[in-house]
Amino acid sequence: MEALSPFERYQDLQRYVGWSAEDASRMLAAGPLVAGHFSTLADDFYEEIDRHPDARKVITGGQPQIVRLKRTMVRWMEELFSGEYDEQYVLRRCQIGHRHVEIGLSQVYTIAAISRLRSGLMDAVGLKWQGDSEGLLATRMSVNRLLDLDLALIEDAYQAEFHRREQSVQRLITIGQVAGGIAHELRNPLNIIKTSTYFLLNSQHAPPEKVRSHLERIDRQVNSSDAVIAGLNSFARLPVPELRRVDIRQFLKQLTETLELPQEITVQTQTTKDAGEIFGDPQQLSIVFSNLIRNACDAMPQGGRLQIAADLAKQGVEISVRDSGVGMDKEILQRVMDPLFTTKARGIGLGLSISRAIVEKHHGRLTASSETGKGTTFTVWLPEATDIPTGD
Ligand code: ADP
Ligand code: MG
Repeated sequence: MEALSPFERYQDLQRYVGWSAEDASRMLAAGPLVAGHFSTLADDFYEEIDRHPDARKVITGGQPQIVRLKRTMVRWMEELFSGEYDEQYVLRRCQIGHRHVEIGLSQVYTIAAISRLRSGLMDAVGLKWQGDSEGLLATRMSVNRLLDLDLALIEDAYQAEFHRREQSVQRLITIGQVAGGIAHELRNPLNIIKTSTYFLLNSQHAPPEKVRSHLERIDRQVNSSDAVIAGLNSFARLPVPELRRVDIRQFLKQLTETLELPQEITVQTQTTKDAGEIFGDPQQLSIVFSNLIRNACDAMPQGGRLQIAADLAKQGVEISVRDSGVGMDKEILQRVMDPLFTTKARGIGLGLSISRAIVEKHHGRLTASSETGKGTTFTVWLPEATDIPTGD
């Protein structure tokens, strides 16, 4: 359903309060009776603002601003009695709401202000009234309805603008976090590449094996930077996995061989012979397991034991990554898979949310259990290769 435009919404509200063409003509007719009071009402309004420090603080431009604001207010009252409530009228009311957000004026004051103007206008209509009392009552009702509609418009626009701003602030924070995380993730490999290129450019008689080892180092770092970008990219637009038969034992063997783990971490891999095959996208699955393994290493800064095990489980294969690291309490455990959740000073907090997204695209499940001070186990369950998932 398309969102209503402000004008359509206004027409909707008009029907709701029973606003009619007669109301509009009554407003027009009452105009000349009240026009003489507009500037007094505006004066009174700003005197009242002046009495409230919270409201007064939004007036930052001194007397000249007050003069301008009073003029705007008089125009606003003139428009109330113009008898024309078209699209432009509605848009100008919306702008008032937007403006209030911009200057930080609480809606409390708008409500109080309109209530004050309401009684002022009611009195003004009565002072020069020459018709019967029924006509006066009807006109006052029209004024009331119109002010209610105006208030609804301003309030609506205020809320919309308020949320828009809040969201854009939130987006900026998120972009900042992601950008900071990417910057960090890429700085490390770039530094290593820089050191190696420096060596290659400056050492004239380096032995060929040394040259080769630096080139390989550069190659590895380029690959790992590529993985960072691929990871983010796959999160932004996770492609449908290209499923093929994957031998779990072989897959895990290859993976652990290519990962460079810290020396002080001992790795144990345990895969039962019949851990079997699954249908999976090896490239995407390596993102998952590299993330789990990297997290496990992060959790063991002083070293420890990393156990990777694969076993048959109900109609599938269960692969677990267990560490003997710091662990997590319940509260953190509940949030670890939320995008951008991280407890690391320089984490991105995307690793697990990407991993979960990938596992779910494989019709599998990613779960975690942990104990503070003892360690954490992440378990990936994937359906076995016998029933080919349809892959959506
Ligand atoms: P990042 O590693 O960038 O922080 P992740 O999504 O990979 O993002 O992980 C999110 C958070 O989950 C981590 O910051 C950490 O607090 C927690 N976490 C993940 N894995 C482990 C683990 N093996 N042990 C303890 N905490 C973990
Ligand atoms: Mg991580």
